[in-house]
Amino acid sequence: MNFTADCLLLFGATGDLAQRMLLPSLCALDADKLVGPNLRIVGTARQPLDDEGYRAFAREALEKFLPADRKPAIEPFLQRLHYQALDANETEHFAALAAKVGPIEQGLSIFLSTAPSLFEPTIAGLVASGLAGETTRIGLEKPLGTDLVTSRHINDAVSSAFPEERIFRIDHYLGKETVQNLLALRFANLLFEPLWNAAHIDHVQITVGETVGLEGRVGFYDGAGALRDMLQNHMLQLLALVAMEPPSSFNATAVRDEKVKVLRSLRTVGPDETVTGQYRAGAISGTAVPGYDQELGKDSDTETFVAIKAHVDNWRWQGVPFYLRTGKRLYKRVTEIVVQFRPVPHSIFAGPKGQPGGAKTEPNRLVIGIQPEENISLSLMAKVPGLDRGGIRLREVPLDIAMDDAFAGPKKRIAYERLLLDLIEGDQTLFVRRDEVEAQWEWVDAIRETWAEHGIKPKTYTSGSWGPSAAIALAERGGVTWHE
Ligand code: NAP
Repeated sequence: MNFTADCLLLFGATGDLAQRMLLPSLCALDADKLVGPNLRIVGTARQPLDDEGYRAFAREALEKFLPADRKPAIEPFLQRLHYQALDANETEHFAALAAKVGPIEQGLSIFLSTAPSLFEPTIAGLVASGLAGETTRIGLEKPLGTDLVTSRHINDAVSSAFPEERIFRIDHYLGKETVQNLLALRFANLLFEPLWNAAHIDHVQITVGETVGLEGRVGFYDGAGALRDMLQNHMLQLLALVAMEPPSSFNATAVRDEKVKVLRSLRTVGPDETVTGQYRAGAISGTAVPGYDQELGKDSDTETFVAIKAHVDNWRWQGVPFYLRTGKRLYKRVTEIVVQFRPVPHSIFAGPKGQPGGAKTEPNRLVIGIQPEENISLSLMAKVPGLDRGGIRLREVPLDIAMDDAFAGPKKRIAYERLLLDLIEGDQTLFVRRDEVEAQWEWVDAIRETWAEHGIKPKTYTSGSWGPSAAIALAERGGVTWHE
C-alpha cells in the first residue's frame, strides 16, 4: 500500500546515531520542506523525559552536529518532536506510547535505532499496542544478526508482524550519492556496459579504509570484527551493485532481484584467498595511537582487518577476481571501487618486435571514490606533447569528475536524509531485502568456518599502514597491486 507516513516513531531517540545522524537529517529535511507540514516525530527511549525535555536534548544535539548554515532551522523543527519514555522490554509500556502516537490510519513509519536484541520485544510491544497495523512500516538498523541463524531469528520476529514490503533494512551505504551514482554510471551511459565483463575487466578492488580504532565501541566490536561489521553488509552491497546485471527499471523489486543473484553467485572463499589482521600501536597522520589489544585491555582474536579475493561465479564475471579489503587504523580513510580494465589486445606503439624501445600502454582504470571525496576518475593513455624525435611517448592521464564541482548547485545530503525520507514515503529501492541479507550471511559464515577450520588468526599490522603484508601478497599472487 502506498502512503506517506504522517508520524515517525524513533526508537533509540537518545542514542548516538539519533544525535549525530537521525535528528540532523530530519531537521535538514524539514528545513527544505521535504516532509509534510503534519509530520510528527515521536522519540522513545528509557530516559525519563517529557516533550520539552526531549526538545532540549535534541536542541543540544542539533547545535553540535548541524552545519552552521542549517542552525536557523532548529527551532521550528523542534516543534515536531514529542517524546514518550519506555523500556522496550516491558510490553505494557507500549500502551502509553500508542496513546502518544495517536491514530495511525494516515501512516506510521517506525525506525528501530536500538540494539537488535531489543527488536523482538519491541515488535511484541508494537503488536500488543496496535501500532503494527497495515499502515505501519518499520526500518531496522544494522547489525541484523551475527550470522545466518541469528539473522533469520531477527527476520522471523519482524516478519511475524510486518510483511516484507513494509520492512526497511538499512545499509546506509546505499543512501550515499556516489553509491547510487554507480547505477547511473553503469546504466545511464552506453560507454561502460559493453565493456563491463570478463572479456574487458581484469579485476575489481573495493577498499573501505578507516583511520579510527575502537571509538568506544569496545563491547560491540570485539564480538563482531571487520568481516561482520563492514564486509558482510556495506562491501557486499557495493560488490553487488558493481557486478549485477542491468535491472529492467530502477525500482525496488528489479534492483534487488539483480543484486541477490550476484550475492548468491559468490564462490566459497578458499583458505589462501583470505587474510585477517589486527592493528598494533603506530601513528596515524603523525599522531601516536595504541594497538587494539591495548585499547581493549586484553588479548583478542578479533580481526580489525580483512582482505578477501572473491569470485562471482556467473558468465559475466568468470575469471575476474574481486579484491575486497577493509580495516581500522589504516593509512587513510577511504572508500573506493577500482575497476581495472584489461590491456589493449595489441599495442601499435610497442615498437618493432623483439627490439627495445617503444611506448608502454597502461590498461584503463576507473576509480569511483565514495568517501571522503565523491569523485569518478578514468585513467586514459595520452600522447605526451612533443615532436617525438626519440619515438612517441605515452602517459596515463586522468579524466576526473569531482561530484562537488560538477553539481555545485544541489545540496550535499547525508545518507540518512535520503533513507529517512524513503522510509517516510515508502520507497524500498535503497533498502536491503531479506534474501539479500541471508545470502550475505551465508557467504560470510562460510568464510568464518574456513578461518576456524584452517586456524587462520589475525596477523598483526602497524597502525597507519595498509594492513598486514600478507594482504599485499594476496593481491600480488594474482599479479595485482592494491590501488593506494
Ligand atoms: P546507543 O548510543 O547505545 O543508543 C541506544 C539507544 O537505545 C538509546 O537511545 C537508549 O536510550 C535506547 N535503549 C537502550 N535500551 C533500551 C530499552 N531497554 N528500551 C528502550 N530504549 C532503549 O546506540 P547507537 O550508537 O545510537 O546505535 C543504535 C543502533 O544503530 C545499534 O544497533 C547500532 O549498532 C546501530 N548503528 C549505529 C551506528 C552509529 O554510528 N552510532 C552506525 C550504524 C549502526 P536509553 O538508555 O535511555 O534507554
